[in-house]
Amino acid sequence: SVRFDQVQKSYDGVSLVVKDLNLDIEAGEFLTMLGPSGSGKTTCLMMLAGFEPASHGEIYLNDKPINNVPPHKRGVGMVFQNYALFPHMTVAENLAFPLQVRSMSRAEQEEKVKRALEMVELPQFGSRRPAQLSGGQQQRVAVARALVFEPDLVLMDEPLGALDKQLREQMQYEIKQIHENLGVTVVYVTHDQTEALTMSDRVAVFNDGVIQQLSAPDMLYEEPQNSFVAQFIGENN
Ligand code: ATP
Repeated sequence: SVRFDQVQKSYDGVSLVVKDLNLDIEAGEFLTMLGPSGSGKTTCLMMLAGFEPASHGEIYLNDKPINNVPPHKRGVGMVFQNYALFPHMTVAENLAFPLQVRSMSRAEQEEKVKRALEMVELPQFGSRRPAQLSGGQQQRVAVARALVFEPDLVLMDEPLGALDKQLREQMQYEIKQIHENLGVTVVYVTHDQTEALTMSDRVAVFNDGVIQQLSAPDMLYEEPQNSFVAQFIGENN
């Protein structure tokens, strides 16, 4: 589970890009942060991953405060839109990398890499280099790399943004399957409503550093809580 408790963030010490965020995410939940560009979604993920400190408040992971825990000790998997694979390593080496950091035996590493590749349906691609894969295949490897060490929590920031529509839809489905099979908690960032509405258990609609509404996807249509939500959800539908 994840908890943001009165979290604020300012990059310049003056203006808040995240304003008093209170948010509880249940274990196993698929929660999407949806909102326009600049509304603070990525900043929330960066604080959760440990790459940006909160300016105020505390973040909890499985009920433990993590403000002072460095990123590699948080056990959080990550997939970003342009989160490049290491080009000089094979796919299998890319996947083994997060395991080596965790000092695991070679046999155990190989077993986990094999399982992760099967999960994203690329079992025969371990010896290729990223440049020898399509964009969609590379993104699937990135998903596998985020999952290979069996994290409780996976953060995804516009992971499908670079893919064409058809591949996007296929990957949305695959990510959902993986989420359901593993029961892993996912915090997903997108500005694509359709993606948010089809994939999520709950959606947090952000604007200007504030959650405007937190609810199940269908409630955003049925009972928008303010004019921002009504307008934002109405726009592209
Ligand atoms: P997008 O969908 O465009 O990524 P977002 O909702 O994820 O937007 P953030 O990236 O969190 O929004 O940005 C929120 C605000 O913080 C923006 O005004 C942005 O310019 C500012 N910001 C983000 N990162 C930094 C940084 N490293 N230094 C200074 N300001 C930043």
